[in-house]
Amino acid sequence: MNPFWSPSIHHLIPYIPGEQPARVDIVKLNTNENPYPPSPLALAAIQEELGSGGARLRLYPDPDAKSLKTAIAAHFSGFGLTTGQIFVGNGSDEVLAHIFLALLKHGLPILIPDITYSFYPVYCSLYGIACATVPLDEEFRINIDDYRHENGGILLANPNAPTGRLLPLEEIDRLAKQHPRSVIVIDEAYIDFAGETVPTAIALVGRHPNLLIVRTLSKSHALAGLRIGYAVGGAELIEALERVKNSFNSYPLDRLAITGAAAAVSDAAYLEKTRRAIMKSRETLSGRLADLGFDVLPSASNFIFARHPQHDAARLFLALRERGIIVRHFRQPRIDQHLRITIGTDAQCEALVDALQDINTKKQTPIA
Ligand SMILES: *Cc1c(COP(=O)(O)O)cnc(C)c1O
Repeated sequence: MNPFWSPSIHHLIPYIPGEQPARVDIVKLNTNENPYPPSPLALAAIQEELGSGGARLRLYPDPDAKSLKTAIAAHFSGFGLTTGQIFVGNGSDEVLAHIFLALLKHGLPILIPDITYSFYPVYCSLYGIACATVPLDEEFRINIDDYRHENGGILLANPNAPTGRLLPLEEIDRLAKQHPRSVIVIDEAYIDFAGETVPTAIALVGRHPNLLIVRTLSKSHALAGLRIGYAVGGAELIEALERVKNSFNSYPLDRLAITGAAAAVSDAAYLEKTRRAIMKSRETLSGRLADLGFDVLPSASNFIFARHPQHDAARLFLALRERGIIVRHFRQPRIDQHLRITIGTDAQCEALVDALQDINTKKQTPIA
């Protein structure tokens, strides 16, 4: 026990993010970043903000990030959102952190799937919130009828991570209806990769005052380095988040982030082009991996979750690493034989397939 540490810090087990290697020649398929650059309009807006000798950087940013909230409301104009239904933060991880404190701490366990984004239990331990896990079925699907227990809130990633599986909108509607007294949080980090038309639960927030949707610009907008996340829900839920934010950091988004994010969100054409390219590459890569003998889960996200019946996942991970390709392997029950592979450019996907073929030859154990 370190006498200088606050006692509660001793038991924290922090989240471990995927590796960010210093080498630039690595084929990096481990943290679900977008392989394409961000919108040119976002870059132009950031450059503009930097202009005039940086005079504007002298000044604090808008604590309410009003221009970004307005851009988000306009992007979802079909759903009639007001800026009072939108909360923004320094990455969706920060938005989630404020959600745990503001909306999920009721003295009852919150419910999450047994296999999901591994940051959720970390927030529970940080804030002293009990967390109960509900098993996914054998095919890694969420069944909302399993979420019947009394709870202090329900949190689902949709599409789920790291499985990539999608829960239909009607099921989220049913879940929100079944638990009118619980906050239902849907983390839609990957929803832009979930189909021709994006099946977002933002469509349902007008109907359910207990429904909160979390989004990030890190994946679909290729802005993981700028750190922007947001939440959409009823104005009363958003007000609780603003209270926590204004008791924590008045300026979570800097000037470059606010202006770049607003421009990125407004460039719907660029999002459409890049998300379609990634979905197309995903279908191609899924087929190639299946040809190599992998069991590939159907994915609605910008990654593939797959296992090979004849190859140990930890060894495959290392063999790929030796060939300059990094993917993600989770040493966790039920999924320790799976790899999560981010969809890269077509050239990166080719490099992955070539490496898998090479591993097969070297070991002389047929991969297919
Ligand atoms: C990547 C990811 C996040 C974090 O996104 P940031 O906005 O970069 O903090 C949140 N939830 C899920 C499920 C993710 O995969």
